[in-house]
Amino acid sequence: MTKSPLTLYLAAPRGFCAGVDRAIKIVEMALSKWGAPVYVRHEIVHNKYVVDALRDQGAVFVEELDECPDDRPVIFSAHGVPKAVPAAAAKREMIYVDATCPLVSKVHIEAERHHANGLQMVMIGHAGHPETVGTMGQLPEGEVILVETADDVASIAPRDPNKLAFITQTTLSVDDTADVVAALNARFPAIIGPHKEDICYATTNRQEAVKAMATKTKAMLVIGAPNSSNSKRLVEVGAKAGCSYAQLVQRAADIDWRALEGIDSIGITAGASAPEVLINEVIDAFKDRYDVTEEVIETAVENVEFKVPRVLRTPA
Ligand code: SF4
Repeated sequence: MTKSPLTLYLAAPRGFCAGVDRAIKIVEMALSKWGAPVYVRHEIVHNKYVVDALRDQGAVFVEELDECPDDRPVIFSAHGVPKAVPAAAAKREMIYVDATCPLVSKVHIEAERHHANGLQMVMIGHAGHPETVGTMGQLPEGEVILVETADDVASIAPRDPNKLAFITQTTLSVDDTADVVAALNARFPAIIGPHKEDICYATTNRQEAVKAMATKTKAMLVIGAPNSSNSKRLVEVGAKAGCSYAQLVQRAADIDWRALEGIDSIGITAGASAPEVLINEVIDAFKDRYDVTEEVIETAVENVEFKVPRVLRTPA
């Protein structure tokens, strides 16, 4: 049977970012330094494939510190944790390693700096996401007001509208966040914030590549987990940029081939926590069914790398 021709547009950059790479390395190095089991509070990064692979090597994933024994090392996920978590680990004299992405830690420091200057914080983020919980948990209760949308801005009641600063989750939609920032600036002209927002380079670059890809094709698959914030944003960005079909898939088995019937091109990208092996699996699945021509849509070149914490760079 002859295969139909299909152009596969591959977004670049896509997939793993420096923070995810570092977090996974931290778990692997902790396992080799201290042996199994090593406990990890929350999924180290939001990807089942990655978590399962580390579990096979001896990592034990838990949601709360209370589930860890005192005498085994514990790692905090890339999303960051409220201040109370490392404090509780220190009190129990546990060995702990913080895999919080340095770009998330930067936002924590920003929040603390503004708080020390007497400002109340507004955080633009998604309620309940571990990064939002972790960042809000850097300051005492009530010091961070969460807003998710531009509409939310109208209903918040800060202590003093002239003493406000804002921070954001790192994995938001760049365009949607600009609307929320504009609403904050309009209602609170004295509000202080970062130059634009705190969205990280990896999130920004992946969204830019998706927008460029959407000028070439109307169908797009984003490889990522349903609980991955930056992956879900890529689907939204693709749809907003004109893809009438923009879908999140965890791996090749999730592809709805029926929905793709009749297409002659499709864009592929992946969230920052999706490993290359799953991206290749999806590409191979297309090659099995179509006569594929690949075209890379490159909008940025990334060469960011983060060091692992010193405790892992020294022998046990
Ligand atoms: S998406 Fe951005 S903030 Fe999150 S781990 Fe990657 S580099 Fe860090």
